[in-house]
Amino acid sequence: MADIVGIDLGTTNSLCAIFRDGQPVLIPNAHGEFLTPSIVGILDDDQVLVGAAARELRVTRPERCQSTFKRHMGSDRKLKIGDKTFTAVDLSSLVLRSLKVDAEAFLGRRVKEAVITVPAYFNDLQRKATRRAGELAGLRVRRIINEPTAAALTYGFHDRKSDKKLFIIDLGGGTFDVTLLEVFEGSLEIISTAGESFLGGEDFTDRLAATVLKGQGLELEAAEMKSPLLVSRLRQECELAKRRLLDAEEAVIRLPNSRGLIDEGAKTVTLTRQEFATVVQPLLDRVKGPIGKTLRDGRCEPADLEDVILVGGATRMPAMRKFVADYFQREPLCRFNPDEVVALGAAVQAALIADDAAVEDMVMTDVCPFTLGVEVGKEFAMRHMDGYFMPIIHRNTTIPVSCERDVVTVSQNQQEMTIRVYQGEGRRVQDNLLLGQVKVTGIPNGPAGQHVSIRFTYDVNGILEVEAFLPPNGKKFTTVIKNNAQDLTEDEVEATLARMRELKFYPRDDVVNQRLLLFAEKAVGEVSQYDRESLEEALDLFEVSMASGDRVSFASAREGLLMVLASLGVHYDGDVGATDAEG
Ligand code: AMP
Repeated sequence: MADIVGIDLGTTNSLCAIFRDGQPVLIPNAHGEFLTPSIVGILDDDQVLVGAAARELRVTRPERCQSTFKRHMGSDRKLKIGDKTFTAVDLSSLVLRSLKVDAEAFLGRRVKEAVITVPAYFNDLQRKATRRAGELAGLRVRRIINEPTAAALTYGFHDRKSDKKLFIIDLGGGTFDVTLLEVFEGSLEIISTAGESFLGGEDFTDRLAATVLKGQGLELEAAEMKSPLLVSRLRQECELAKRRLLDAEEAVIRLPNSRGLIDEGAKTVTLTRQEFATVVQPLLDRVKGPIGKTLRDGRCEPADLEDVILVGGATRMPAMRKFVADYFQREPLCRFNPDEVVALGAAVQAALIADDAAVEDMVMTDVCPFTLGVEVGKEFAMRHMDGYFMPIIHRNTTIPVSCERDVVTVSQNQQEMTIRVYQGEGRRVQDNLLLGQVKVTGIPNGPAGQHVSIRFTYDVNGILEVEAFLPPNGKKFTTVIKNNAQDLTEDEVEATLARMRELKFYPRDDVVNQRLLLFAEKAVGEVSQYDRESLEEALDLFEVSMASGDRVSFASAREGLLMVLASLGVHYDGDVGATDAEG
């Protein structure tokens, strides 16, 4: 049976898992870690770095890196790295390619198929973009599933015999989703879901960085233009402070200089847990809306729930946990690591697709997270007004689903009609998202009021297909949504594939050393002038022996560099043991 990997393609981190020996297991990357930062960097010699090494590069060379690009999935926004331009799909495909290579190294065979997770609230364009990123990475995407659904699959897999209602709260790096579901003897039924595509842990870090800068009389956006190195490093400091507040009552943030360096005399700002909670309160307030909507849609009260489950790294924040505990009047459950539970669930979904015997008693049904419909006109006292939204599939309908509604021609002998397809909850289309349009031509002559049927089919991947046809003979006009900026012609897809294939990855076996090199280079500018010389010496030796390919001298140079860093009190957390330079 072909291996189908489960991939959590996250805003900040991505993970890959596989179902084997009756269990989902995580796949380590070249650093021996399960979390691969979703960051892409390109070195001066055009080699591509993905993950932790790119995260190091971002601190000193932010212009050679891109991160949080998941936020631009489904848009045609251009993202620059050096003199190259990418879309979010291109960059996501590089992250996926890196995970695929890690999986192949782990399994010792080619990996060609994947289940990829997306936020439940991702729209049609974002889902199609994710699927295309998979294809660009050389993966056949067997299924796109919602992140909270994947998390539910992990819980359901380990607790099949129960009968209960669960509520999943998923706050990742860039997106927020909540899902209500019922587990009953191995069957998982998603009842309702809601979310926000632009709310995640990164917003909490940004808000903190903006507050710190404000205290120094600076605005975040202006500072970003003027001193990108300062902002990039300050973000890293704020991220650390945010994490430190998990165990500590207060955290110190060191202020970098305009070159992004934290020198010995750097100013500091001390932040208490309470101050952090106050700074991020406006973000916590936004969490309430989708929770209330999901409970209402599922006709459920907090008291009806057995457990509230936290998923996504940002749910670790004490402020978030306290908010959830207050809202639901109970401590949330976190049996599985919130960073890992989605990827593990994707692997369970892969096992379901592959008919693995270990999941033969499991069934899962999901819902369409938003209402889908078309634009229609309405008559008001003989006045025709366009711009109204007619739902065809209501939100939280169980999928796959196919629904049909009719629209009518508005003038005599009208032969053409453009059907605009929207997603959203607004009464007017201007408040909803335009997904695309279907042109209907060749309507036979006749009076106004002739019917045209529109059928929406929403599949298990959350991808919409639209058909328009003339009742009663069923003459069909068009079957796919056209005319959104993301639809590429076959030639364009080929050209993108060729462009992405040209990019050369930094060799996997050396990436651990590249990460150490970038880390130590950053440290050179930060240690005192007295220590700088010894660090530079160790770094020079490391770089020379890395290039030489001599294993013995390389191993001792690496050891030497790590020892010098440790003796200077510089903590390096990326060490997974000595690695050959030549691989
Ligand atoms: P995910 O996309 O699920 O990997 O979530 C990543 C987000 O979780 C990032 O925005 C991180 O800043 C945040 N995060 C991870 N660990 C912690 C922690 N200990 N405290 C606060 N936020 C965290």
